[in-house]
Amino acid sequence: MERTKFRLDEKDMPTSWYNILPDLPEPLPSVLHPGTGSPVTPDDLAPLFPMGLIMQEFSPEHYIDIPEEVQEIYRTWRPTTLHRAHRLEKALDTPAKIFYKYEGTSQAGSHKPNTAVAQAYYNKKEGIKRIASETGAGQWGSSIAFACALFGLELKVYMVKVSYNQKPYRRIMMETWGANCVPSPSPDTKAGRDMLATDPDCPGSLGLAISEAVEDAATREDTHYSLGSVLNHVLLHQTIIGQEAMKQMEMANVYPDIIVGCIGGGSNFAGMFLPFVKDKIEGRKPDLRIINVEPTSCPTLTKGLYAYDFGDAAGMTPLLKMHTLGHAFIPPAVHAGGLRYHGMAPIICHLHKLGLVEARAVPQVATFEAGVTFARAEGIISAPETNHAIRAAIDEALKCKESGESKTILLAHSGHGHFDMAAYESYLSSKLTDYEYPEEKVKEALAHLPGAPAA
Ligand SMILES: *Cc1c(COP(=O)(O)O)cnc(C)c1O
Repeated sequence: MERTKFRLDEKDMPTSWYNILPDLPEPLPSVLHPGTGSPVTPDDLAPLFPMGLIMQEFSPEHYIDIPEEVQEIYRTWRPTTLHRAHRLEKALDTPAKIFYKYEGTSQAGSHKPNTAVAQAYYNKKEGIKRIASETGAGQWGSSIAFACALFGLELKVYMVKVSYNQKPYRRIMMETWGANCVPSPSPDTKAGRDMLATDPDCPGSLGLAISEAVEDAATREDTHYSLGSVLNHVLLHQTIIGQEAMKQMEMANVYPDIIVGCIGGGSNFAGMFLPFVKDKIEGRKPDLRIINVEPTSCPTLTKGLYAYDFGDAAGMTPLLKMHTLGHAFIPPAVHAGGLRYHGMAPIICHLHKLGLVEARAVPQVATFEAGVTFARAEGIISAPETNHAIRAAIDEALKCKESGESKTILLAHSGHGHFDMAAYESYLSSKLTDYEYPEEKVKEALAHLPGAPAA
């Protein structure tokens, strides 16, 4: 009998996060101050984040200890299980070995609590009483609401209006955990009011909701801002996933040939692959392939420009060197809400430029087809975001079937899709369509780049 599940004991959960920054073959481009164009200092960021997180953003340490209180909460659902997808392999009739690390067993149903808990902890420790944040479809909002409930912090979430209206369940989760959730654009901030004056029916965007949350935090002493992806410290917290996976792959006596994951801002997948990319950088695993999968409707890494841009729509955040579709980008209303961000984690973009990771865009209908295949074989109904990763894993397994190779594929499974039944219904009733973000629109959005000084 071949094993199906690889589980670590609670006592074997990693007790530090892995920091890629000192291991990068070339240093990561600096984050720039939007006013001066020079690199931001920790003090520039102090109105928004606690110093504990700011120091992680720039840290030269290879490993950073996970505080005891954070470990304690992690242990309520971690370590997560690594599964061997025997039944999917059989369904595909492939010689490939497919493994998946499932993050859907957290209280909020995805990988996002790995950073939400850490962020709430550092804010609480530095005396902050209240957090402002944004959410698209509600995955991040519900995760930070869960974390704030555990640390007794107040939370206000600006939720992209189209999702607020269409997806009440995640909002109700946030409210159950004690958060205040409003539709964005809202009348509560200047960024929101300006947008409502121009377009009262604006459906909102993640970039605009970020502007509202950043403004809220910057204008109140007792409040900090929290971001669920993209930034270095967020990716750092997610490396618990990859470190666990490494131990579990050892238990299974394999090392992956291919690692696949979906990318919105890049945090879940980076959390998985960063500990492995170290092996590639250091020459131990030169042939390891790392495939970042995104939607054709929001093709940040495959079609965006690698340039300095704002993280938000109103142009309030520091400038990040990243692949971007332009901060004015308003994404089409596809179902994978968590993958509809105009930018991408600078660390992933940098590794992509260095040729250490690949990128691929997949169309929406094919992702649901893959998700349904996965559900019928493995049982798990996956988040629409995760279905992008599953599509790529299945495609790689089918290539193995053609070539007869028995490659080992490791899939980063970011969460369940229990609140996305309407999306599955659209797919099952053949109402779902594909949307390729047109090249002219990419050009148009890029015309609004801030034009930062070359660095
Ligand atoms: C938010 C989310 C994503 C995308 O965010 P990343 O920062 O790229 O990981 C992917 N999957 C799920 C289930 C999510 O909730």
